[in-house]
Amino acid sequence: MSSPRGLHDQIRDVLAADNCSGCGLCAALDPQVTLELNGDGYLRPLAPENAPAPAGAAETFAAACPGRIVRAPVDPGGKRHPILGPYRAVLSAFATDPEQRTAGSSGGVLTAIAASLLASGAASRVIGAKGSPERPRLTTTVSAERAEDAASMAGSRYAPVGNASVLPNGPQDIFIGKPCEVSAVRSVVGSGPDAPLLMSFFCAGTPSQHATDRLLVDLGMPSMGEPTRLRYRGGGWPGTFRAEAGDWAGETSYEESWGRALGPTVQWRCKVCPDGTGWSADVVAGDFWQADSRGYPQFVESDGVSALIARTDRGQRLVEAALGNGTIHATKAEATEIAAVQPLQVERLTTLYGRRLGAAAAGKSLPRFVGFRLGFHVVRHPIRNLRFSRGTFVRARSA
Ligand SMILES: Cc1cc2nc3c(=O)[nH]c(=O)nc-3n(C[C@H](O)[C@H](O)[C@H](O)COP(=O)(O)OP(=O)(O)OC[C@H]3O[C@@H](n4cnc5c(N)ncnc54)[C@H](O)[C@@H]3O)c2cc1C
Repeated sequence: MSSPRGLHDQIRDVLAADNCSGCGLCAALDPQVTLELNGDGYLRPLAPENAPAPAGAAETFAAACPGRIVRAPVDPGGKRHPILGPYRAVLSAFATDPEQRTAGSSGGVLTAIAASLLASGAASRVIGAKGSPERPRLTTTVSAERAEDAASMAGSRYAPVGNASVLPNGPQDIFIGKPCEVSAVRSVVGSGPDAPLLMSFFCAGTPSQHATDRLLVDLGMPSMGEPTRLRYRGGGWPGTFRAEAGDWAGETSYEESWGRALGPTVQWRCKVCPDGTGWSADVVAGDFWQADSRGYPQFVESDGVSALIARTDRGQRLVEAALGNGTIHATKAEATEIAAVQPLQVERLTTLYGRRLGAAAAGKSLPRFVGFRLGFHVVRHPIRNLRFSRGTFVRARSA
């Protein structure tokens, strides 16, 4: 087998193809690589010129960077849903602690499980994301060793951050991240008994940081100011986008913030992602929305409920333990019920084959996607794939 190009050249290749998701893995493999927001407001690596990378980093990157390759897990046991991926248990769940449930993005289950594992000593560190303490408009990767610090990570941050820049190490570590980050980390740490616990959440994609900044201006934040607090969701379900700066506070609904401001700026790589539901995780959560008759989510404020999927044997044992010790409350659910209220995830995966063809025809190469059975969807939805193929071709040509 031929050896891959050097790490820094590979990073530049991924950037040139616009296939970087900003997961941060390359910065973990080589401390000379820094992550910075680019002119479009997306997190991107900056690789040094003419400096050798650490031994083995190029090989690891070639096998793990989600801008090069995303692999579906090879037979983790259990069942497999064509959209939601492998699973052993599917639940409708929420944190039993009302504060955690309210602070969480949906049911707060990821935070509750992580915090309780730290509190009991079953875990020693949780890696996740939260608002930067110095500049709350930005999002940063953090490590927590105390349950209360893990609890402070609750909630979704619809902005760039690269959690895979901090690699978990050993079975006592918990890593929480977007599906691309978890896929990258899984490729590095494997799934043996000494692997860290990987948790993820459903992800429609990472919006530009500029969208957050514009939203603050639109809400009337005093010019040039830095908010003292900024949350994207939480304080209910779906909860509101809320920022505070001194005496000023601005707030808007999830429908407005995600639907009109943040969602439309999702980066290109996320629009062609096969893994929006975190196939490589041990445990994954999503919003278990109430839907209208066509399956479109109704964003009516209520107490948060997560779709909780245990994918691996370890994930299943963990969820059972969280139920047994009262960390979460859950009832059994069906994978088809979850897919029915996640129209974006369904559309993105079932039309990805067509998008890939359209992108290729316009001269754009995508990462390799292995094991997601895209051909299965094209056989079931040939006309839609044709339509999306044309649309992607036109957009990619005019970009
Ligand atoms: C970018 C993005 C896209 C999303 N797209 C979807 C979607 O398509 N469908 C859907 O149902 N839900 C989506 N969500 C919301 C989220 O998947 C659900 O609300 C999920 O049910 C959360 O579960 P929870 O309440 O248990 O999480 P919580 O207990 O609130 O825990 C959330 C965890 O995620 C981590 N985190 C937050 N933001 C980020 C980030 N940007 N990068 C890495 N880690 C982060 C936090 O550190 C925390 O540990 C998205 C969230 C984000 C951040």
